[in-house]
Amino acid sequence: MKNKVDSRKDIRKQAGFGIRGQLVIGFTLFVLIVLIIVWIFQVLLLNFFYEQTKMSDLHSVQEGIDHAIAEGELDVACNELAVKYDVCIAVYGVNNGAIGDLLISTEVSPTCIIHYTDSQALNSYYEKALASGGEYTQRFTLAARENNIPSRSDSHKDKPRPEHKDEEHTNNVNNDNVFVIAVSVKALSDSLGNDYAAFINLRFTPVNAVQHTRSVQYGYIAMVVIIAAVIFSFFFSTKIARPLERMTLAAERMANGDFSTHFKIEGYRETRRLAQTLNYAVEEISQADKLQRELIANVSHDLRTPLTLISGYAEMMRDIPGENNPENNQIIIDETKRLTTLVNDMLDFSKYNSGFEEPVFHSFNLTESVRSIINRYSELVRQNGYRFIFTAEDEVTVTADERMILQVIYNLINNAVNYTGDDKTVIIEQTVCGDGTVKIAITDTGNGIPEEAITQIWNRYYKVDKSHKRAVTGSGLGLSIVSRLLQLHSAEYGVESSANAGSCFWFKLKISQM
Ligand code: ADP
Repeated sequence: MKNKVDSRKDIRKQAGFGIRGQLVIGFTLFVLIVLIIVWIFQVLLLNFFYEQTKMSDLHSVQEGIDHAIAEGELDVACNELAVKYDVCIAVYGVNNGAIGDLLISTEVSPTCIIHYTDSQALNSYYEKALASGGEYTQRFTLAARENNIPSRSDSHKDKPRPEHKDEEHTNNVNNDNVFVIAVSVKALSDSLGNDYAAFINLRFTPVNAVQHTRSVQYGYIAMVVIIAAVIFSFFFSTKIARPLERMTLAAERMANGDFSTHFKIEGYRETRRLAQTLNYAVEEISQADKLQRELIANVSHDLRTPLTLISGYAEMMRDIPGENNPENNQIIIDETKRLTTLVNDMLDFSKYNSGFEEPVFHSFNLTESVRSIINRYSELVRQNGYRFIFTAEDEVTVTADERMILQVIYNLINNAVNYTGDDKTVIIEQTVCGDGTVKIAITDTGNGIPEEAITQIWNRYYKVDKSHKRAVTGSGLGLSIVSRLLQLHSAEYGVESSANAGSCFWFKLKISQM
């Protein structure tokens, strides 16, 4: 079995990351993931998204030309499309499957290919378009474009046939291999059956230069953001962890038995609440600890006194023959009874407060029960001149745990007998109240209870007079047992008393029958 010191060591050597470590690592990782995602989209896939947009522009231009041919407004429409999408457009009529007259030509780029390509090449593009379902697009790298663009002074016809590299499927980041131009040809026809070939020259801005700049930029941004993330997460985690660390130290002090420990209420709402709850727990534990100490002091005192008397008298009666008389015998019997009461009260108290003892409700004649308890005191009446006055107008039946209610009445009458005045009178009244309840009140003519003690008498081990006069020494548990039993019945109860005016203890139960 582990001892206390081992358990404490076990608690201290908890492995793993603390809140600080977890938050700093977690937050930094999160920022890193966000940066990687942004980098993938903004840098790595920049070229891809750019090309997608350009291709979508190309389709819009093709649709626009198609629409313009149908509407017969080719001129205006092509100029608008060329400016809007930054493309060069050349629309040719088609005669007998070959490129014929140039119908429209808009030129916005000095690096355009379609306006400087001979009719043979244009025809070859057109044939490729027809072969691939009416549309053909060819892309040119920077190097290929340079080969294709003759100087502006060159004549159209003199131009050498460009040696176009088919780069459609290459995707090198090398500047020379980056696509800068796409030439697209679309075969169109109008409602009259005339065929057209629409050539579109689409310019690409090489994005790998931008890509490189962005990569460098992202490197710096990542550095700054990660440093900021570490600093912020460290700051926030410290704000959370510090109150918890302080609370742990305070809890350790508490575990070592220092109940004056106070948990500082600081930090976030949750930690403030935890501190409040722990402060409440410390109060409760220290109260329980105090009561336990009192219990040990009370019990050892209360048990030792009768035990000393019993053994003292018994030895005296054994050693001195003349002392073996009925009076001394009676003292031993009385002290034994006192011991029994004390032990029984302690057992009852722990039984009813453990929460395992639930009341078992059934109907019984309360008036008859009170009478039977009073009868138990007949010896006291006969020998010591006590007077019990019981008044009850009706026979009342209640539904309750009879054993528990009898114990309540017995404890209250016992106290009244112990604390009543010189006239040795105890009055027990049973009154039927208007609200369907019956009130049992036990009144004595004793010294009463001082106002400051009234609320305390129901507490366990509380005694108004701690001087332990032999005649009235009790366990200090009687009224706390009464209070617990009446609470189990959800019954109203109380006491009316003041110094030198006697006391009246009462409780009410619901009447089930009269
Ligand atoms: P005890 O066994 O000491 O009587 P209780 O719990 O029954 O313990 O009562 C608690 C304290 O309340 C008693 O010590 C006593 O000071 C006070 N008390 C109880 N009943 C009476 C009473 N009828 N008159 C005056 N004081 C009383």
